[in-house]
Amino acid sequence: MSLPVRIAVALSSMKSEEWTEPLREACAAAGVVAQFEAWDGRRIDARYAVVWLPPAELFTIEAGLRAVFNAGAGVERLLAMPGLPPGLPIVRLVDAGMAPKMAEYVCFYIARITRGLDRFGGPNALRDWNAERPRGRPPTVGVLGLGAIGAHIAQAARLFGYPVRGWSRTAKRLDGIECFDGAARLADFLAGTQILVDALPLTGDTRDLLDRQRLSQLPRGAHLINVGRGATIVDEDLLAALDGGQLASAVLDVFRVEPLPAEHPFWHHPKVTVTPHLSGPTPRKPAARQIAEAIAALEAGTPVTALPGYVERARGY
Ligand code: NDP
Repeated sequence: MSLPVRIAVALSSMKSEEWTEPLREACAAAGVVAQFEAWDGRRIDARYAVVWLPPAELFTIEAGLRAVFNAGAGVERLLAMPGLPPGLPIVRLVDAGMAPKMAEYVCFYIARITRGLDRFGGPNALRDWNAERPRGRPPTVGVLGLGAIGAHIAQAARLFGYPVRGWSRTAKRLDGIECFDGAARLADFLAGTQILVDALPLTGDTRDLLDRQRLSQLPRGAHLINVGRGATIVDEDLLAALDGGQLASAVLDVFRVEPLPAEHPFWHHPKVTVTPHLSGPTPRKPAARQIAEAIAALEAGTPVTALPGYVERARGY
């Protein structure tokens, strides 16, 4: 009988202990005999690691790693870790149950915006049966990033009857979605977007993407929902756009610094809704299944570059 594959689990705030059992079960179902250990700094000769912001020593102490699985979709902080060996392959989660939850979050806020639902709650609730209803063509929703998450959000908004457009790096074809690609087409994309949804990864190209100039390319009175990464938006420029009326509102789930510092103006701005990075929870079972299937594929000889979620370091996602 073959020896079990040793796998280090280093998930910091995501609690390694709560993942080892789902990972073990998923590996057994995928036909891999694996031994998972919540990594405590002692060398276990791991072949793989499942990580979320792991300690930097993991990569020096576990020098025989063949691949690292990121227990989330965003990899910008892992890629920025100083001790990360340059040739170590990284595989991230692809959807794994996050995309429908994020689409739910975004569509909830789209409904809140388009129907003025804020009017009907809280101590100053409008008690008027004849309150104004939305009329005419629904606003166009524009989704930045058409990956596993952005494409799901775009399709969900379309199913709710919104005209939807999306923007990605490379050309896409998505049913019923007007697709734009590349930096050269961003201005056109923004000009026709009334509700902008940011579902971008943070990379060298997307950092500070939405600055004063880009925000001014939206139609006046547009709304913003950010579920991608905080640093894709320039905070000061966003605040200026809100204060000057260029933007009517912003719903922000992700921030340049997390937790969002108590003194940050977003917390108290009347046009800003802050949620504490909760739009895309990582459901453990589907995530464990995806990781287990990837490990099974690697053990069967599939090249890591062929796995869904293989991170191309040069492009940053
Ligand atoms: P994907 O890698 O599947 O998709 C990324 C999309 O962004 C792709 O469509 C890609 O284009 C596009 N993109 C990347 N760089 C550029 C660029 N320079 N110009 C235009 N488009 C670009 O990622 P996911 O959809 O799985 O996740 C997206 C992000 O969502 C994550 O990186 C993470 O930051 C965030 N996230 C947030 C969560 C939350 O709780 N708020 C939870 C999970 C993820 P192309 O298709 O051409 O490659």
